[in-house]
Amino acid sequence: MEKKIPYKIYLEESELPRQWYNVRADMKNKPAPLLNPATLQPVTFEELRTIFCDELARQELNDTDAYIDIPKEIRDFYKMYRPSPLVRAYCLEKELDTPAKIYYKFEGNNTSGSHKLNSAIAQAYYAKEQGLTGVTTETGAGQWGTALSMACAYFHLDCKVYMVKVSYEQKPFRREVMRTYGASVTPSPSETTNVGRKILAEHPGTSGSLGCAISEAVEAASANPNYRYVLGSVLSQVLLHQSIIGLETKAALDKYDIQPDIIIGCAGGGSNLGGLISPFAGEMLRGEKQYQIIAVEPASCPSLTRGRFAYDFCDTGKVCPLSKMYTLGCDFIPSANHAGGLRYHGMSSVVSQLYADGLLEARSVEQTSVFAAAEQFARIEGILPAPESSHAIRVAIDEALKCKETGEEKTIVFGLTGTGYFDMVAYEKYNNGEMTDYIPTDEELEASFAKFPKVD
Ligand SMILES: *Cc1c(COP(=O)(O)O)cnc(C)c1O
Repeated sequence: MEKKIPYKIYLEESELPRQWYNVRADMKNKPAPLLNPATLQPVTFEELRTIFCDELARQELNDTDAYIDIPKEIRDFYKMYRPSPLVRAYCLEKELDTPAKIYYKFEGNNTSGSHKLNSAIAQAYYAKEQGLTGVTTETGAGQWGTALSMACAYFHLDCKVYMVKVSYEQKPFRREVMRTYGASVTPSPSETTNVGRKILAEHPGTSGSLGCAISEAVEAASANPNYRYVLGSVLSQVLLHQSIIGLETKAALDKYDIQPDIIIGCAGGGSNLGGLISPFAGEMLRGEKQYQIIAVEPASCPSLTRGRFAYDFCDTGKVCPLSKMYTLGCDFIPSANHAGGLRYHGMSSVVSQLYADGLLEARSVEQTSVFAAAEQFARIEGILPAPESSHAIRVAIDEALKCKETGEEKTIVFGLTGTGYFDMVAYEKYNNGEMTDYIPTDEELEASFAKFPKVD
């Protein structure tokens, strides 16, 4: 007999994973190595440790250990807001009148409001353990900066955040949350770094971009030997930390003998998606199971669906290592009317390689349809979702509606990465009917591809 599935599946505290899972260990085609931007040779541990703290540099380069212990100090912090619930969306299923079963893994149950805290606390811990005094970073929409501020406050580290200027102006409350947790917040591009001054001279009046804020944060970290730079997405170490999402999801599904058919995640830099799918992709890579995995990205920033798989710079200032990934080019900045987040030009090298090898598919969706899904979800399931997360909601609803057509009882799992309380300017645009969709033309993308670095 089928076990009655609770509305929310909460694991016990004792079931909180003790190790992260490193999907790279099970990949036959490993992600291509990061390259030193000056020599175009694979970066070494010695080079990486000038940017990242030592343990994180090791994790970044570790393609072989499948499991990595989560230190006790990090698990203790995780216990404050994890295990996070896996929720059966009974009300949404009823509303859609679909035979599909829909589950979402909810990562918005912490003050930062997203999954980013899972990696922030790990990165702050390793910096503290190494005796560093502070970290620098960039933030776009503000979730990462908020998460890092919380993590640094917990471990008594300084936290310097370069915030993309348009967000700094549009999201004053995010900024104040960060300052409440003790971080200093600078709008980027700024006059405080060489690269910021250079970008301002070349593009006066620019509203900034993530790639540009990254360059500033890296420069600020390298100016102080007791600081390191930390990054909230894209990197393989971040995917590793985010595997906690997938491990918990799998444990909760296994506990009730639930077999997912479709797993859906939104994809900006690829960290929540990569973390959610890691244990499932591992089963696929080992030939044990099959799943349909769907990455969802904005039509206005379509790195997987329309980008090229090539070595590219991770930042506009070209100071970070090069990564082989699906990319739109490091100068690509999504149209100013794009309000839905997921604005990064590239994609995690792990997710990129899995995509190139056919383990996952990608879909792009337009922002008005994303906000329509967000409102439908908010009204029936109660949670006000982040615009980023709503990309996954859109495709989960689309797949459930397909099941209604075909009568298939598929089990759909998607990642609900966060809440949207600080995104009300975007919701306001949608509610006023002022939101439009912009899809870059092939010419615009070609112009950006033409500037790829030459790597043989
Ligand atoms: C940052 C963020 C994302 C996108 O980042 P990924 O690295 O692609 O996961 C998605 N949802 C929320 C709520 C975020 O804060």
